[in-house]
Amino acid sequence: MTSSDSNAPDDYVVIGNPVAHSLSPQIHAHFAAQTGERLSYGRLLAPPDGFPAAVEKFFAGGGSGANVTLPFKGAAAQWVNELDEAAAFASAVNTIVPLAAGRFRGCNTDGVGLLADLRRGFEPSGLAGMNILVLGAGGAVRGVLGPLAQQQPGSVIITNRTQTTAIRLAEELAGRYPDLTVSAVAVEELHGSFDLVINGTSAGLQNAVLEVPGAVVNGAFCYDMSYGAQAAFCRWARDQGAIATLDGLGMLVEQAAAAFFLWRGKTPDTTPVLAKLRAELERR
Ligand code: NDP
Repeated sequence: MTSSDSNAPDDYVVIGNPVAHSLSPQIHAHFAAQTGERLSYGRLLAPPDGFPAAVEKFFAGGGSGANVTLPFKGAAAQWVNELDEAAAFASAVNTIVPLAAGRFRGCNTDGVGLLADLRRGFEPSGLAGMNILVLGAGGAVRGVLGPLAQQQPGSVIITNRTQTTAIRLAEELAGRYPDLTVSAVAVEELHGSFDLVINGTSAGLQNAVLEVPGAVVNGAFCYDMSYGAQAAFCRWARDQGAIATLDGLGMLVEQAAAAFFLWRGKTPDTTPVLAKLRAELERR
């Protein structure tokens, strides 16, 4: 399909490796049907070192926008011409928006997606004053920390299996948001209680158990960026006395809705789409 094919629907893709598992095509098909937008959305598998060639070919062929998933979010941040604030802090892009004159803007909608899901499932009035523990310091955590910091939480503590990564991230966050109380704490030194604990590790993907003391989730609201069968952290946290838990399926739908808005200028109703995906996952 090319841009000269004026009857063709606008063309979007998610680029990744692997990408067959991605739920993004289903989510965007629901959004398109709901808003009456005429578009197609597919999956594009790029070779591990082939992101620039794949994305250039896609846009040269008339592509209207792209999502980017593992392992290319960093490569996408290098490829675009400009970054939004969250993508600049994360050095990771999950949404590419074409601009005029062959330029491209890289955005990171993971953080706004998480915040939207937290507003729906946890605290509608936001996170101001809350003490937040973040588990993990990889790409997903980098993507959400900027938007979280802007909510003016009481404190943010980052803990990670590789402590040096957490320290570096906490220092960067403090540099970018000087009014924020933020620190990195080694897992074995974790203590105290938190209002919100966010698991942004990929331990669930590997069926690995997180080495976190149960006391830190007791009485906390716990959010797991993993979803479905991989959301083992939710099950563990409930056993440790978390007041409530939520997996990351809502974040996935909300980050997609934020991308849809960037491309189409329309805000989909995420609640029915989330319900459909949830039902589908439970049937599997
Ligand atoms: P990365 O590979 O960038 O980071 C992985 C993080 O998990 C690192 O902090 C790593 O620690 C930690 N980790 C990995 N294995 C273990 C383990 N066995 N025990 C403790 N810590 C571990 O991945 P991402 O940040 O991109 O993704 C993290 C998770 O978030 C994934 O499950 C992904 O599916 C999910 N995600 C969900 C989204 C959503 O919309 N719901 C959006 C984006 C991501 P170390 O530094 O020591 O290696």
